[in-house]
Amino acid sequence: MARPEHRPRKRFGQNFLEDVQVLRSIAHCIAPREGDHLVEIGPGLGALTAELAGNSGPLTLVELDRDLVPRLQQQFAGRPQLEIIQQDALKLDFSSLQPRPLRVVGNLPYNISTPLIFHLLEQSQCIADMHFMLQKEVVDRLTAPPGSSHRGRLSVMVQYHCHTEKLMEVPPEAFNPAPKVDSAVVRLVPRACPWQADKPENLEKVVALAFSQRRKTLRNTLKNLFNSDQLEAAGVDPGDRAEQLGLQQFVELANRLGK
Ligand code: SAM
Repeated sequence: MARPEHRPRKRFGQNFLEDVQVLRSIAHCIAPREGDHLVEIGPGLGALTAELAGNSGPLTLVELDRDLVPRLQQQFAGRPQLEIIQQDALKLDFSSLQPRPLRVVGNLPYNISTPLIFHLLEQSQCIADMHFMLQKEVVDRLTAPPGSSHRGRLSVMVQYHCHTEKLMEVPPEAFNPAPKVDSAVVRLVPRACPWQADKPENLEKVVALAFSQRRKTLRNTLKNLFNSDQLEAAGVDPGDRAEQLGLQQFVELANRLGK
């Protein structure tokens, strides 16, 4: 039966990926192995799903738009081990999905991408890796090394939990409707950071304060927490700006807080 036309809904961030080469390249980057449990967030009209559904392992689709669910059911009818969950991914308990670990993928609605990444990082013990299409600017921030002008709070907090890698850039024309911004695909692989913060909330506090006025030196931005001698004792140059610090230095500062 022919599927009725679906009009993209702005409120759900619906920019459907139509470029076949890009879809194949993303699937190639994900490279599902036999038995992998793939979880796609926002399958939409099923374009990326179709590239992934040939893999034999469990496939879970999480879609907020209830009008798209019957289409997906029809399109992938008969695909073994398929589960379609009509829910807001921000509210889904990913750790309840079995079997683990999960390989999470998605061309994400850009308006929820940052809260969604943090929601997933809270459950990272059940996740092997994540591949997301995001606004290019967000991918540049996620992957920014120390010294990069893209480096900010998002870079440090996500890199504390994950290895991050930019895989490819995607122009607006690959989508329908075309978004106003360039996009890029990022790979996030959860891992234990070599430097552990005794209290993660202290790391959040130091990072947030350090980047609160990113043009100022750490001597200024962190003055309510550390004096210059204390910064130097932690291996930090008080004349540096936040973007110049590596993870190890942020963790060192967090672990000295209150001592
Ligand atoms: N994967 C499809 C593609 O590549 O063409 C669609 C991508 S579109 C950018 C984002 C998709 O996420 C839409 O299908 C939208 O309905 C869905 N979505 C939006 N907000 C969501 C949420 N909070 N939870 C789950 N899915 C959501």
